[in-house]
Order: sequence, then C-alpha cells, then structure tokens
Amino acid sequence: MSLPPLAIPATGFFALLAIATWLLWRSSRSALRSGLEARKLAKETGSHHARLEHPWVDLSRCIGCASCIRACPEQGVLDLLHGQAAVVHGSRCIGHGECAANCPVGAIALTMADRKDREDLPALLPEMEAIGSPGLFLAGEVTGYALIRTAVDHGTRSARGAFTRKQQANLRSPVIPNGEGEQLLDLCIIGAGPAGLACSLEAKRLGLNFITLEQDRIGGTIARYPRQKLINTHEITLPLGGKIEGRTYQKSELMELWTKLCFDHQLPIQEGFVLESVQKDQDESFTVKTEAKAFRTRSVCLALGRRGIPNKLNVPGEDLLKVNYSLIDAHAYQNGNFLVVGGGDSAIEAALGLAEQTGNQVHLSYRRSAFFRLRARNHLLLQEALREKRIQVHLETTVHSIELDRVLLKREGKPTPLLAIPNDQVFVLIGGSPPMPILKEAGVSFDPALGPNQDPPAERGVGLLLPFLVATLAVGILLIWGLWNADYYQANALDRLSNENDNWLRPAKGVGLFAGIAAAFLICTNLLYLVRRSRSVPLKTGSLSKWMSAHISTGMLALVLAILHSGFSWDNNLGGHAIIGLAFLVGTGALGRYFYSFVPRVANGREQALEEALMNLHTNAKSWASVHRGFGETARREIAELIDRTRWHHGAVGSIVGLIKSQRDLRLTTRRLASEGRRQKVDATSLSQVLQVAKRAHRDALVAGHFEDIRSLLASWRYLHRWAGLLVVLLLAAHIWYAYRYGNLGGSS
Ligand SMILES: Cc1cc2nc3c(=O)[nH]c(=O)nc-3n(C[C@H](O)[C@H](O)[C@H](O)COP(=O)(O)OP(=O)(O)OC[C@H]3O[C@@H](n4cnc5c(N)ncnc54)[C@H](O)[C@@H]3O)c2cc1C
Repeated sequence: MSLPPLAIPATGFFALLAIATWLLWRSSRSALRSGLEARKLAKETGSHHARLEHPWVDLSRCIGCASCIRACPEQGVLDLLHGQAAVVHGSRCIGHGECAANCPVGAIALTMADRKDREDLPALLPEMEAIGSPGLFLAGEVTGYALIRTAVDHGTRSARGAFTRKQQANLRSPVIPNGEGEQLLDLCIIGAGPAGLACSLEAKRLGLNFITLEQDRIGGTIARYPRQKLINTHEITLPLGGKIEGRTYQKSELMELWTKLCFDHQLPIQEGFVLESVQKDQDESFTVKTEAKAFRTRSVCLALGRRGIPNKLNVPGEDLLKVNYSLIDAHAYQNGNFLVVGGGDSAIEAALGLAEQTGNQVHLSYRRSAFFRLRARNHLLLQEALREKRIQVHLETTVHSIELDRVLLKREGKPTPLLAIPNDQVFVLIGGSPPMPILKEAGVSFDPALGPNQDPPAERGVGLLLPFLVATLAVGILLIWGLWNADYYQANALDRLSNENDNWLRPAKGVGLFAGIAAAFLICTNLLYLVRRSRSVPLKTGSLSKWMSAHISTGMLALVLAILHSGFSWDNNLGGHAIIGLAFLVGTGALGRYFYSFVPRVANGREQALEEALMNLHTNAKSWASVHRGFGETARREIAELIDRTRWHHGAVGSIVGLIKSQRDLRLTTRRLASEGRRQKVDATSLSQVLQVAKRAHRDALVAGHFEDIRSLLASWRYLHRWAGLLVVLLLAAHIWYAYRYGNLGGSS
C-alpha cells in the first residue's frame, strides 16, 4: 500500500507541532507559577496597589500577546497571568500609556486608582483650575500625575486658562498699575520644572505679562536626576515651537533644550525665590509672597512638583556641610566613605551610582525591614551590588548623629544599639514634604469627593463583530455570485471548457484572475500587521488595534476571493492546498482568538476565588489558633498543601494521575484534620467549618488547574496560526510561480 504523497511531511509537521505545543505548555505553566508568586509578593508588600493612573485589562479581549509588557518602560507593572495581561506592581505605573497604545486588540485602558483614600490629590477642574478658587491653577506633578509629557500639557493649559481669565476680565492692557504703583501681573508661575516652563512658554506666546519664580534652578526634578539617567518620554510639542521628538533622552540633552528655550525666548524666570504663601485679595487677584518680595497677580500657576522641601533627619550634626539632600553627579565623589539614607528609588540609584566609582565605601541606611515599591530594575541592580558586596545595607536603622569623620546609626532591639561607620559625605534622600500646606492655605481643596469620578471601565467583548460582519457580507455576495453562475461552477472541469462563461470565470482570466490577484494582494496587506507590530521596524502609522482589525478583515476577504478565483473547486494541487491552508489560518485566527479570550477569563475568575479562599484560610487560622492551640496552624498548612498538590501537576501524565488521585487526597486530608481536631478537642462547629474550607479550596484548585491546562493548550493557537501563515505564504508563492511558468495566463484557453 503506497502512502499519499503528503503523508510523510504532514506527519512530521504534526509531530513537530505536538512537541512544540508540549514545550510551550510546560514553559507557560512555570512562567505562570512565578508570575503568581510575584503577584502574591506584590500584594503582601502593597506594591500591587496602583497609586493613580494604571492599566486596566479587558479580559474579554486580551489575547495574551504580551505586547503591553514589552512596551511598558517601567518594569513589572504588567505580567502574563493565565495567558492574559494582569497588573502585578500597580504602584510602579507612572502613566506612560505605552501598554494601551501597543495593545493590538484594544484590551487596555488607562484608568484612575480609587481616589477616595487619597487626601493628597487636589480637586481640580479640567482646565487645571482649583475648584472654588478661580484664577488659581495647578500644573504637573503637584496634581499627582508623574510624567514630563503630562506636566507640559498641564502647564500649557494653565497658561491658556490665565489668558481666558484675562480676556474675561476685559483687561486690554497687560500691566495695570494699582493705587500704590504696584504692577498687577496677568500670571505668576511658581516652579521652573517641565510644567512651569511649558506654562511660561505658552504665556509668552499668548503675550501675557507674567513672571516665573523658582527656588532653585530651572529644570525642576530633571535637573536633579542622576547624570546618567535615561529619560523615557513621548513626542512632546512645546509652545513656541519647542519639540521633544525622541522617545529616550539623556538628562543633559533635555537640560540643554530647556536652557536654550529660556534664553531664546527671554523668559522672565527669577531663580532663588522661595514661595511662602499665596493669598486671595478682595478684588479676585492674588498676592504671591516670597522671602524677598511680594507680587500681585490676576492668576497663579503652582507648578511646584511634589518634592517640595527635602525632608530632614533632625539629628545632631545635620547642619554640617557634608550633608546633602540630592546627588546629581556621582562621578564627583571618589575614594571616600559615603552614607546614603533612604529606601526609595532615588536613594538606591544614588547608592548604586556612588558604588560604581573607584575606591568608594558605600553604606545604605533604611529604617524599614525590606525595600518596598522599588522599580524592578533598581531592585535587581541592588541585589547584584549586595551579592558583590559593593554596598553595605543597614536595614531597620536610623541616623543617631553625624560627626565630622563618622556617623552613628541607631539599631532598634540590637544588643549594641549604636553602630559607628566612617564617613566623608552623607546623602539624605528620604523624600520631601509635599507643598500641601501652601496649597491648602491658598484655597486648594483636597476633598476626594470633589475629584473626578471615573466609572470603572467595562468589558467590551472579543471585538470581532465588525470583521465578522464584513466576512458575512463577503460570503453572502460570494454565494449569490455562485448561484448566479451555477451552471458554470457546477460543471466538471471538461464541461467548463465548453461553457461560454469560461473565458472570464476561469482562474486565469477575467473575474477569476482578478479575484486571484486581489486575494494575493490582500494576503500581502495582511502581513503588514506583523511589520507594524515589530518593535525593530519604524512603521508606526495608525493604532495597532486598527491594524489588527484590518488583519482579520483582509484575511477573511482573501479567503473568499481565493475561493472565487478557484472557481469553487480546489483540487489536490498547489492552489488547492493554499486555499485549505488559508481556511485553516482564518480558523486558527478568529476562532482561536475567541476561545482563547473566553477561557482565561474563567481561569482568572477561579484564580480569584482561590486567592480569596487562601486569604480566608490565613485569617481563620489565626482565630482557630486562638481557641485551639496548634490546630489552626495545622489546618492552614494541610489545606495549603492540598491546594498546591491539586493545582500544580508535572507534565501531561502528571495531570491525569493528579486528577485521579485528587479525590483520594481530599478524603485523606479531611480525615487527618478531623482526627487531629478531635484529638485537640476542637468543637464540632469549628471543625466542620475547617472541613468545609478544605473542600471548597480543593474544588477551586481543581477547576483552576484544569482551566490552566486548557488555556495552556489553547495558547498554542497563536503558534499554530503563525506556522499556518508561513505555510500559506510559501504555497501562494509556489502557486504564483507555477501558474506563470506552466499556466496559460496570457494565452487562449
Ligand atoms: C527618579 C525619577 C525618574 C523619572 N523618570 C521619568 C521619565 O523617564 N519620564 C517621564 O516622563 N517622567 C519621569 N519622572 C517624572 C518627571 O520628572 C516629573 O513628572 C516632572 O519633572 C514633573 O514636572 P513638574 O514641573 O510638575 O515638577 P518638578 O520637575 O518637580 O518641578 C517643580 C519645580 O518647582 C520648584 N519649587 C518647589 N517648591 C517651590 C517653592 N516653594 N518656591 C519656588 N519654587 C519651588 C522646584 O524647585 C522645582 O524646580 C521621573 C521622576 C523621578 C523622580
């Protein structure tokens, strides 16, 4: 018996596919496990909780392509859990929005964290004006949003608000002297960071009479970044033609740009002026008071940032000249003993920077027991520095006193409470006191009830409706066309030759040929989606989600046209195989995506139930333990182990064996718990509660495990889809070449 010609390559192809699927299944299980561990840790340390803007993932759409994770400039905000994107370290999000922009299926929206517990966020109108204080504008990070792009936008809007206010007051002349000869400014801007500078540029463009006051020097937080810091940003258009075009910048490049803009446009920036208060006057104007001078103004823009005045240690010796509150250039410090105080990103970056210089001994003192809320990169670099002993970390210590050549650290609860370390310079990087008192005094409200109320985003479904409608329409037209010319399409190959329509319906002529060319063109267009998605190709026109819709629609239309081109008859030849491949491609694309989005959602739901069960277990364990010593801990341990065994199996065989063994495992666990409970004389109600928890947790773990298996298998659809795509392209190329070489495209039939 002879095998069909394609049998051997097809068997090889499917065997390879099976192996690849199995490998993927294994690696996705272990990635999931570590992802869940990371999320658990994030929840324990509180870094799971987003502070303000953060991504929200529509699980009914997410296809788990990880584009969002790759696009995010911050690390660890998102991860793939159960094959879909999930927020892990929400607090690391500073609102870049790259995840949403790079999601091909529009599954991510930036949303606000719950503001009700935040009493440090000013209540503002959309124009950046403080609610209840007309003429008082807030811009940039002081509003709680941390991005250069946002600061520029806020600053620009504030200047426009001041301009409108001037127009409304019908102030024709920019400078109006009051009775005492004092000038009334149109706008007084405090702070020359990105927000204050953008506000100044726009004020200049609008012809306002304004002044900008800065306590330190222009550049704001950027001026205080470490020298080597790489800044991620979007394209930003500044007023008066200034542009930030690239996506990454060196600190020096941005500082040069700001300085040039200030010089070119002769911005009235006064350095060394520290704002003390803003008072509202009777005539709806303001008096801005600094140590040196007071200014009267119709509008005020507070672009103060959030760092305000650096926090101090308030310990003996802090007034020594060697104590600094920022580190700008670590290169300037070599061959010395340095102490960095603090546990945030700034402190860690400073310690790492100092440790890189020759001959430095770097100590880091932090009052807490671990570093929470660090950026992932800093966390990794710190671990590396600790392993290589480049930095000595003193956790749970505070500075007791600073002397000329040493520092004394206080260690709570240690036998020797004071630790002396040699020291040349101290860097105190423990944040700043935000400028909230000045804002409150100026009339800014921080009432969370006044802030914008954003409805939580809602799931929108897979989003395939439009492409399906297009495809249904195309199939409908195809069917009508087929029925219209049924006498030709129903005939066999020989009879077709004698049919009068053969000259324009056959694949190599008229409509048939046109449909073939159009199908090939659509397939090429379809592949452009991959080019747009690639991070190494600079084609960035249009949003990825629009490209994805076009990808689906062109794929489906290409199939319809290919069928028309074939004259509804695909034989055992290159063209016929290309059509079958195309149909498989469309199937794996559209249907695969539908099911893939559906199953992980269910898995995520189960996962939540399981997490809740585990949390309840921890809480209950404490209460059980308080009544029956030891039993609570035994129950917690037994149930946690049961969940772990039920949920995580090793390999496909392990899954099947695990399924059979899991009921027995549950029976044994509950039996052990019941006898231990009786031995410890636990009352019947508590015991039955514990057994119920064990059964529920077991059921959730079982279901979560199975969904996970299904999801891992379904995850292979994308790979199947890609390989099918490659196959179709190869078959199509061979088909076209063959038709040209041996077909009679130009000849008579
Ligand atoms: C370590 C770090 C890394 C960052 N990386 C990025 C990044 O890669 N990309 C990005 O987009 N964003 C990044 N950011 C955020 C970005 O730097 C800020 O969002 C931006 O600088 C905010 O601009 P701003 O003008 O609102 O405030 P700031 O830049 O803080 O400027 C405020 C100005 O007001 C002055 N001021 C304050 N109080 C007074 C007073 N009482 N009187 C007079 N003047 C006063 C200050 O001296 C300062 O010059 C980062 C921030 C930090 C801390």
